[in-house]
Amino acid sequence: VEQALLPAGAPASGLPEAERRLLSAALAAAVKEVFPGAVRGSCGTMEHGFFHDFLLERPFDTGGLACVESAMRRILAAAPAKAVRLSAGEALRRLTDEPLLRDEVEAGGWADETLVRIGAVELVVNGAPSAVLPEGRVFRLTGVSGAYWRGDEKQRMLTRVSGLAFASQADGEAHERRVAEARKRDHRVLGRDLGLFVISERVGRGLPMLAPRGAAIRQALERFIVDEEAARGYEVVYTPVLGRRELYETSGHLAHYGEAMFPAIRLDDQELILRPMTCPHHFMLYRSLPHSWREMPVRYAEISPLYRRERSGELYGLARVLAFHLADSHIMCRPDQVAAELDGVLDLVRHVMTTLGLQDDCSYRASLREPGSPAYEGPADLWDRAEAALLAALARRGLPHREAAGEAAFYGPKIDVQMKTAGGREETLFTIQVDFVLPERFELEYVDSGGRAARPVVIHRSSVGCLERTIAFLLEKYAGALPPWLAPVQVRLLPVGEACEPYARELLAALRARRLRAEVDARAETLGRRIRDARRQLVPYVAVVGPREVASRAISVRNRDTGGEHALAADGFVEGLLREVDGRFLQAAI
Ligand SMILES: [Zn+2]
Repeated sequence: VEQALLPAGAPASGLPEAERRLLSAALAAAVKEVFPGAVRGSCGTMEHGFFHDFLLERPFDTGGLACVESAMRRILAAAPAKAVRLSAGEALRRLTDEPLLRDEVEAGGWADETLVRIGAVELVVNGAPSAVLPEGRVFRLTGVSGAYWRGDEKQRMLTRVSGLAFASQADGEAHERRVAEARKRDHRVLGRDLGLFVISERVGRGLPMLAPRGAAIRQALERFIVDEEAARGYEVVYTPVLGRRELYETSGHLAHYGEAMFPAIRLDDQELILRPMTCPHHFMLYRSLPHSWREMPVRYAEISPLYRRERSGELYGLARVLAFHLADSHIMCRPDQVAAELDGVLDLVRHVMTTLGLQDDCSYRASLREPGSPAYEGPADLWDRAEAALLAALARRGLPHREAAGEAAFYGPKIDVQMKTAGGREETLFTIQVDFVLPERFELEYVDSGGRAARPVVIHRSSVGCLERTIAFLLEKYAGALPPWLAPVQVRLLPVGEACEPYARELLAALRARRLRAEVDARAETLGRRIRDARRQLVPYVAVVGPREVASRAISVRNRDTGGEHALAADGFVEGLLREVDGRFLQAAI
């Protein structure tokens, strides 16, 4: 998970593979010197580093890492490494003291068995290392951690020693700066420092709780999207988070998606499942009434609580959780309406992206089926139609996109809006699916103009995505300084002494009456300290309320984004901030 914070698209400052292999071999030689009897486990190299696992008789102590690192430097400086190619049989004969690696070679995991003489040892490795580390290269060991043999929690725990390596000192420094920047934007750190959410071991892993400030962000997002959808002809529905097992047998979720679902709960004669998706509920609502071709499309929207089983190692702050809320919708439409509906959805998605200021961080991906794979439901001709409809919609709007075979949902292809996060990861922010398959399985119908029963097409779509993840992305994108309309606290009022507090409270009431989020900090701290705290909390407007402001019924505000400070009439400030919030400005502008 830590690795996820490292930028993926970093400039090509990584060492050639052979040099990283040399570092890995030198590390093994050094560990064998410092820890006699050490047994080698897996090793590997990443763009900027290398690691090697060991089974040790005694654990690393505080000086251990430095000791191993200096042994590595001595070994590398002493003499070039010598490498000879081995046959698999020879490699196995030479691995009698390395039972873990023997297993690996026997399992056929290696392609290039090589004998390396380095330092005082001979090592059998996979892939030839370079003989020397060229001038100017820099490396250091970064830490020791536990790693299961073969990454399997049921296997024994080994000690992993990791290091970083760069082509030059300057590359190393640039990398450190990028890591520090990514850490500063880490939404888990911001969430704690800004008091937004809490993950409690007693509540459960992967079950974050939004504190009042985090909840304020979610509410702002929800109000925005619910109003926007209403204006675009969506109808809000509310459906329960549980559904019968049979519902997911019909939908195919159990067969294709079962591993990501919570186990069923037995209740009397029913088996209930915490839903992983909203579709079946919306379909049953749709089916409860007859629909005429004239009243199509039907657009149901819901901020849906959903549940997905994630492996505990994959849980990650607000971005990967067990319980979350998706701004979900299902559009049931006639086949002749698919194009117009897709245009409408793409327009909504673009509006959401620009409103959140994410348009430059996002790209479109057409996620299609993998031809010939059994992972998909329904006949090929329906899939052809669905894929053609999505690609045509992208083409009509001239949206640049890439195609990804094998990324479709089991019931239909998707347009995914992919976001590059601050940490360099690529994540799906929003998704749009065309589905000819589930309408068949749920026998959805409308009455066509000739009075006959006809099958609608379903468009599944999210708009602001999964609220928890969207909040995580926004925090990382803005490094916590959210646009004023999303900021948990928009104004913090700092009265100078008790005499000014009543006026500060009056301003607070006036702001709150207009549904602006404000608070008074009247703690017995110095003004300087309270200003610093407000800045650290990234509050867009900090207002000092002193005798002058009281006398003139004014307000002096400092703007977080411009750094500007000025005094204005209290009413004028309230109206200005309202304009900014209603207009969803990306930066504080007063
Ligand atoms: Zn759906």
